[in-house]
Amino acid sequence: MSYCHSLLYYKDVVMKNIKEIIKSFTIEDYENNLVNLHIHTKYSDGKGDFRQIIESAKNKGYKLISITDHNTIEGHKLYQDDILLTGAEFDCWYGYVFIHLLAYGIDINNEQLKPFLAKTKKETEGAFVRLFSRRNVKKLIEAIHNAGGIAVLAHPACYWAFSLDRLVKSLIKTGLDGIETYYPYPRFRKVVKFHSAKDVIKIADKYPELIKTGGDDFHGITF
Ligand SMILES: [Zn+2]
Ligand SMILES: [Zn+2]
Repeated sequence: MSYCHSLLYYKDVVMKNIKEIIKSFTIEDYENNLVNLHIHTKYSDGKGDFRQIIESAKNKGYKLISITDHNTIEGHKLYQDDILLTGAEFDCWYGYVFIHLLAYGIDINNEQLKPFLAKTKKETEGAFVRLFSRRNVKKLIEAIHNAGGIAVLAHPACYWAFSLDRLVKSLIKTGLDGIETYYPYPRFRKVVKFHSAKDVIKIADKYPELIKTGGDDFHGITF
């Protein structure tokens, strides 16, 4: 087996493992604070310290967390831990819809991901600046896969799409792996919602190839 083949094989195994691990989580894992795959820190617009969040999650007995700062993996470059899954949340335009794509399990040293990462601090925290994203969703998903990760549609109820079903279906064709199904919309997202949490679950159930993920979009100081 050539080096190239073995590397591809390794990536394939890692990606399958992440999917299997996430699939093994239940809604209770998210509700009972055992798993949280959507957390922001000071590396983007959160208030918390990256390392302290890992520590407090460990103290509280979490099984797995993912820190998903906007358009950046800087924190992951400095801190790794057994309970921490690498992650990021990317701003993208998909046609006329502005979406957030979560990436999980990415190799943080992967070259193909680099063009998609923030070049300035503002691209990680300024909601307005982030609207100018020029990321191509297809190419981003390809890069996430190339880095051994999976691509997940974040908080789908928040998107201004006439048909959320059609948006998801189109994203699946573009390589989407998962959909964020467990998300506390009323508590954490005070922005206008265009769909309901029930709509999201219905769509997630309609496409069984999508894995269901969850997190509370934490932006606070400590867990
Ligand atoms: Zn988001
Ligand atoms: Zn977020």
